[in-house]
Amino acid sequence: MQLLYTRYVAAVPVEDIACVAQTISRTRCATPVLAPGTNPGRWTLMPPTLHRHGARQLNLPTNNSAVYDLTHLSYPEQLRWRTQHCPAHAASTAAPDLALADWEPFDTLRHRPATRLPVAPRSPS
Ligand SMILES: [Zn+2]
Repeated sequence: MQLLYTRYVAAVPVEDIACVAQTISRTRCATPVLAPGTNPGRWTLMPPTLHRHGARQLNLPTNNSAVYDLTHLSYPEQLRWRTQHCPAHAASTAAPDLALADWEPFDTLRHRPATRLPVAPRSPS
């Protein structure tokens, strides 16, 4: 996933990333970050990030990797993804976060990039 100039690895599939805020009933908000009505990112093939470890010098594969690109979204929207909040909780700072955002910066040495784009789920006809 690419946002705010950084590539991250999410622990779960994009559509399963849930808001980390606490609801008034003290449970974790179940609204996905990719909430209905919000601007989705788009899957794209991108060259690997080379600046982190210098993949070229390390002779690592330099295949393009499948990245969920959010860089076309507005800055507040990218921040919302970064802080892992649904639109409602992004707008309010009253609710404390119940969980930490589970992003991990993409590490060329530890993460194996997906080199194929995921198959888009068929829309019900
Ligand atoms: Zn929420």
